[in-house]
Amino acid sequence: MTWSARNIFTWFVANLLIIGGFVRRAKKRAMKGEFILPVYFHNPTKKEFEGCVKWLKNNGFTFLSMADLNEIRQKNLPLPKGGVLLTLDDGWQSNESNVIEVANKYKVPVSIFVSSEPVEDGVYWWTYLETAAKYNKGLPPKSLLKKASNVERISILQNIKNEITLPREALTVDQVKKASESEYVTIGGHTHTHPILINCKDDELYAELSLSKEKLEAWTGKNIHYFAYPNGDYGIREINALSELDYKLAFTCEPKYLTKSILNSNFELPRFGLLEGASLAENICRMLGVWKPLMLKFMYPKRRLSVDPQTTTVSSRPKSEMMAL
Ligand SMILES: [Zn+2]
Repeated sequence: MTWSARNIFTWFVANLLIIGGFVRRAKKRAMKGEFILPVYFHNPTKKEFEGCVKWLKNNGFTFLSMADLNEIRQKNLPLPKGGVLLTLDDGWQSNESNVIEVANKYKVPVSIFVSSEPVEDGVYWWTYLETAAKYNKGLPPKSLLKKASNVERISILQNIKNEITLPREALTVDQVKKASESEYVTIGGHTHTHPILINCKDDELYAELSLSKEKLEAWTGKNIHYFAYPNGDYGIREINALSELDYKLAFTCEPKYLTKSILNSNFELPRFGLLEGASLAENICRMLGVWKPLMLKFMYPKRRLSVDPQTTTVSSRPKSEMMAL
């Protein structure tokens, strides 16, 4: 846990939720087999990831692989009691020691959605932008570049890449290959350059999805069937493209449980985001799905909390989310 005023405050809130029985009630429903807990991380420390795995193990949860989930979706397997799905986005280099080693040690399946360009180049685009912005105040902030056209994003980034060199932060090709050899690791797609897909033209969208698939399949020697939308942004065009390219499941950032009915929408599967740097107590509340609804109720007291999955067509990322891409 990072000791900030925010994290200390939310540690107290999370403990109140735990003492108040919110976590116990959510766990009880999960253990009845009402839903699966879908969880995503980005770049956790070993202590954070191992802490979550140990808590889930000690509380009797059943860890599922992507293949398990696909079988459950096709009704070849029943919805398990206390099912949990651990996923990671981007393919950070620290995942090797902080996640994959832990997955192998505890024999729990994890799925890592990897963007292929950072694997080749070493660095994610927002790190280039944030580093350059320290010296050039005229550069747009990340939030604005996430709304710009993909052509504009690439142009700005190319200028920055010509000027600065940064240390590697993504897995290498060899590390992706080695990770894929573990029986506990599934590698999935997360585009090539990690654009906001809804800002891409049609040809850019297809290139992003197909190029990353080709590269990951060449590196791992395995078919890539699973995908996570960068920033959780997608629409019907993105769903159709994934289907054409033989992806089988795709994940958003919509914080909801994976129920039987939601599993029918195989390219719109929700996930609860964990917050790196936050306390284990907060992340337990997040994994159990009790954190986000309460925070939304606190921030938007007059808004209805239920979200109709049919209306989720563009951005699945909650506006209050503070995590990386
Ligand atoms: Zn990402």
